[in-house]
Amino acid sequence: MEHNEQDEFFETLFRLDACDDTHEFLDFVQGKRHATKDLLTAASQLLSKGRVRSAYILAMLLAKRGQRHLTMSVALSVGGLIYGNSIEEENGLQHLQAQFDALSVEEQQKTYDHIVAPIVAHLWLCSIGKADNERVMRILQHFRAAVPDGFDWRAKVCKLCGGSAEYWFHAQVLGRYRVAYHLCEQCDFLFTEEPYWLAESYEGVIKRQEVDDKDDADGVARTMRLKEFVSMLLRNLFDAQGKFLDYGGSYGLFVRLMRDEGFEFYWQDNYCPNLFARGFEAVAAVEGEAESRYELVTAFECFQHFVDPVQELDHIFAQSDAVLFTTRLLPNPVPKADEWSYYALESGRHVSFYSAKSLRTLAKNKDLTFLSNGTDTHLLAKRHISSGVFKGISRWGG
Ligand SMILES: [Zn+2]
Repeated sequence: MEHNEQDEFFETLFRLDACDDTHEFLDFVQGKRHATKDLLTAASQLLSKGRVRSAYILAMLLAKRGQRHLTMSVALSVGGLIYGNSIEEENGLQHLQAQFDALSVEEQQKTYDHIVAPIVAHLWLCSIGKADNERVMRILQHFRAAVPDGFDWRAKVCKLCGGSAEYWFHAQVLGRYRVAYHLCEQCDFLFTEEPYWLAESYEGVIKRQEVDDKDDADGVARTMRLKEFVSMLLRNLFDAQGKFLDYGGSYGLFVRLMRDEGFEFYWQDNYCPNLFARGFEAVAAVEGEAESRYELVTAFECFQHFVDPVQELDHIFAQSDAVLFTTRLLPNPVPKADEWSYYALESGRHVSFYSAKSLRTLAKNKDLTFLSNGTDTHLLAKRHISSGVFKGISRWGG
């Protein structure tokens, strides 16, 4: 019975929070003497969702009851700053450091990841002017122990559109590097900090010919499906007699299959040996001569590996007027570090994550046509291509 009441409490509380009706939320939390433990749990969960206002209200209520807790200190200092109550801000800051320092290193990181990282972007977005920036830093400085030495919480420049990319979270890459991820406010492109660990990430692929994520157990089945899809696409929307390049072509299976279908495909890959399409390596352009022109470039599961996507795209478009690629679109809301396997934290090889908006923005900036099946298969082209035909083929062949 008690359990049901508790479930009901959380359900109502989160529902009212989601409605953004502060009065109703207040009436509910003050209307009955809810258990301190439940209010604290609720405050912590609200912070983890970036719901500062409701967490702040709960923290003030708990403070009136004479409670003290790290979660409350975070909610009070951040809420006080965002909603302009410097007394509550100071109340929060008063015990923050001592409470955080009392945790073990592991608990510090967990607490930081759970309730601090999700609100950093809110703090920046709500702060205007230099004085406020200093106040944001004054709060964040308390959590230095949970981030790498010298880490900077300020926004970076978006690699895709040049917009402002807010700090979003830290994740454990290759089991040992605490890596920061930034999300662009304008185009929803998510990217890691400068990937200094990549040499280590690719060591396995190059030396041990470790199986990469694109060559996993269903890699062959996927390549067979792609063969059907791309064949249809080429016959309907491109010059099927032209030359084609599979960029980042892995072991060459796709090139082999496409050649068997009668398409003149070439292979290129910086990390994988060519096992299936020997003799069909793309020849780099000789200086002074025009680069080889391809009717279409395919790039399967490559874009999430690109450290500099704009430069890579320019490189591709120097050789062709169209690129067909697969990369899974970043879900909305952005998943937390442990909620999306596509972050590929164990291999550390995925460093760029695109939303549909990111790809649309990229296309607009480069004056390209952008078509997508809405999940993982996309086309960028210099000329107009009928979205109806593309979507029809995607459905049928994908
Ligand atoms: Zn951007």
